[in-house]
Amino acid sequence: MTILDLLTQLEAHPLVDPSIPKASYMPLDLSVDNSELQAVNVSDAEDLERYIWRYMIANKAKIAYGGYLEKRGIYQRSTYFNQTNPETERNIHLGLDLWIEADTPIFAPLAGTIHSFKNNTNHGDYGPTIILKHHSEGGEFYTLYGHLSIASIEDLEVGVEVTQGAQIGTLGMAKVNGDYPPHLHFQIIHDIQDFSGDYPGVSNQLDLAFYKNNCPDPNLLLKLY
Ligand SMILES: [Zn+2]
Repeated sequence: MTILDLLTQLEAHPLVDPSIPKASYMPLDLSVDNSELQAVNVSDAEDLERYIWRYMIANKAKIAYGGYLEKRGIYQRSTYFNQTNPETERNIHLGLDLWIEADTPIFAPLAGTIHSFKNNTNHGDYGPTIILKHHSEGGEFYTLYGHLSIASIEDLEVGVEVTQGAQIGTLGMAKVNGDYPPHLHFQIIHDIQDFSGDYPGVSNQLDLAFYKNNCPDPNLLLKLY
C-alpha cells in the first residue's frame, strides 16, 4: 500500500475540539497571490493576527486552515529561510496550518509514540514542537506539531505511547511560537531522515519535488475538505 492510500484509509481524530463542526472551518489563503495581504504587514505577528481574526469573524468561522504547498511572503522577514537567492529561498509551505487562539488543546489524530520533541527557537521557526511516530499495517510515518506552548514539551519522554484523541499539548502564543499569530503547523512526514524534534516545514523550489513526495498533503488524513 502506498502512503497516500494508507492516509486516505485512516480515520483521524480532529486535531482540535471535535465538537467544532466542519462548517466552522474556513480556508485561509496566505499565498503571495492573495491581494488582500498587500495591505497587511505579514512580518508583524499582531498585524497578521488582526487580519486573520477579521477574516474569521466576517466568515463566521471558528478555525481558519490551509497552506499546503502555498507560496508565502511571510518568511521574507527572517534569514532562517535563505531569502537572498530566489532558487534557494524557502517559501513553499509543507504542512497544513490551523489558525485558532493560543492555549487551544491539540489532540493526537492517530495512536502513536513520542518520536521526539524540541523547542526550535530561530526567528520564524516552530518554537515548541512534538513529532509522533505511527505504525500501521500499511507502513510507518510521522506527524509533526509545531508552534506549541512551552508546557507542551515539559515532562515528555521519547517512546511513550499516545492514544488516538489524547491531548498532546496546547498552542503557544507569538512570544514562544517563532513570532506568529497562534496556529498549529501540522505536517506528515514519511521518512524522518535524521531529524529529531524538527523537520523542514518550508521548502525552496529546488527541493520541492523531494519534500512534496516525503510530506504528503495532510488533508488526506484530516479530511477537512
Ligand atoms: Zn505552518
